[in-house]
Amino acid sequence: MVSREGNVQHQHHKTQCVIILCFFVGEQVKYLTCSCGVFSKFLPNFRIEGTTVPMSSFLNPYPDFAQLESLLSNEQKQTQLTVRSFVQNEIEPKIVKAYRSEEFPVGLLAQMGAMGLLGANLSGYGLPGMDTVSYGLLMKELERCDSGIRSAASVQGALVMFPIHAFGTEEQKNYWLPRLFSAQSIGCFGLSESEGGSDPGAMKTTVKDKGDHYELNGSKMWITNGNLAEVGVIWAKTELGIRGFLVPLNLEGINVIKMQNKLSLRASITSELVFDRVKLPKSALLPKTEGLKSALQCLNQARFGISWGAIGAAEACFVEALHFAKNRILFKKSLTSFQLVQRKFALMATQITQAQLLVFRLSQIKEQQNLQPAQVSMAKQVCVEMALNVARTCRDILGANGIMDEYKTMRHMANLETVYTYEGTNDIHLLILGQELTGISAFN
Ligand SMILES: Cc1cc2nc3c(=O)[nH]c(=O)nc-3n(C[C@H](O)[C@H](O)[C@H](O)COP(=O)(O)OP(=O)(O)OC[C@H]3O[C@@H](n4cnc5c(N)ncnc54)[C@H](O)[C@@H]3O)c2cc1C
Repeated sequence: MVSREGNVQHQHHKTQCVIILCFFVGEQVKYLTCSCGVFSKFLPNFRIEGTTVPMSSFLNPYPDFAQLESLLSNEQKQTQLTVRSFVQNEIEPKIVKAYRSEEFPVGLLAQMGAMGLLGANLSGYGLPGMDTVSYGLLMKELERCDSGIRSAASVQGALVMFPIHAFGTEEQKNYWLPRLFSAQSIGCFGLSESEGGSDPGAMKTTVKDKGDHYELNGSKMWITNGNLAEVGVIWAKTELGIRGFLVPLNLEGINVIKMQNKLSLRASITSELVFDRVKLPKSALLPKTEGLKSALQCLNQARFGISWGAIGAAEACFVEALHFAKNRILFKKSLTSFQLVQRKFALMATQITQAQLLVFRLSQIKEQQNLQPAQVSMAKQVCVEMALNVARTCRDILGANGIMDEYKTMRHMANLETVYTYEGTNDIHLLILGQELTGISAFN
């Protein structure tokens, strides 16, 4: 494996090597073309934040106690390495500035589109149909950098492309899916309103049939990518129940307002959308949407990606804190020599491993198209809660340094507060599980 400083330390899985053609710019791998078989000695400057933790490996420089890497195909390893290289070279250098300035890095979605990372698990219409584990690894690598970056990709793929794919006409699919895949167009998803995101059925936004057109009125809050978007998948009440509409955001009567001064997910754009007598063409309806359950189907796609992604954030914090603790000398000893500190790392590694196992197994079930909403709820709830707890513990281990943004841990911690709340709060997922287990709905 390769250490944080770039020294090759040891290599555990010789048989799992993958050849990577790489071009170095300065000290970083600038581009990777992976086929099969790489030897880490060829990559002396590859900046994987490594540790000497037993059971870690080239791909997973954090404890891989369940040896999940040995279950990955070469293609899945290629995907993970390619995305990690892209994240390290293109996003990591920009993320602190983006977070401080509350701006999404300019042109980043276009870069992701050029790499085929958006809606990559969908197929047909020129989409790659990536397998479920690869998709999860992609989400994990994005969120290893920042939850806001993963959120932008999640919204585009799971909350905009998925509903068009699942509920759209052939015309809508043929027009929008290739454009959204390449990021020629950016989309957003408008379900939440100011009064109670956990109760979307109480929404006040309406669409009225006016004969030759529809009229849209109302507002949506907390809309990721809103100010970047050309089109919104907007959920509204109609005479026939809740339906989804494809709304071009440049129409007259639409106001998109950036929500500023967030203390979490600052590298992600969050917006309020206001609709005042907006005239929509009849072609805006996503005709196969049927009530709130269609919106929830989209959320389940995104929640699955979040479960994988949150583990990436936890791993990033774990690696940073372990590296720090090893080098931190207190009472003439490394901080890692103390039993209380070792206990923290032991518990975190165990919790991360449990989450890794859960999402890996659920990915296999999803690949067989058998994944149920309650299983997704369990994964979202437990992975995000784990990641938030790991981030908080790592922040503690970093001491005062941990409050500075030159360390990533507190940024992850603050981001995970949003991830804990959006896409169904932690409580809501527990209630979904409670209902599944008892047959009793305790929502109201
Ligand atoms: C940065 C960010 C980005 C977002 N992006 C999007 C987006 O792109 N599109 C979109 O549509 N939405 C988005 N959201 C909105 C998000 O989905 C909502 O915030 C979330 O659903 C929770 O709604 P709320 O904030 O109104 O909290 P509330 O629903 O008011 O909940 C407040 C508290 O009450 C608890 N609670 C609620 N109901 C119950 C109950 N029945 N029993 C017990 N406890 C309960 C909750 O768990 C929570 O602790 C985003 C939010 C954030 C913060």
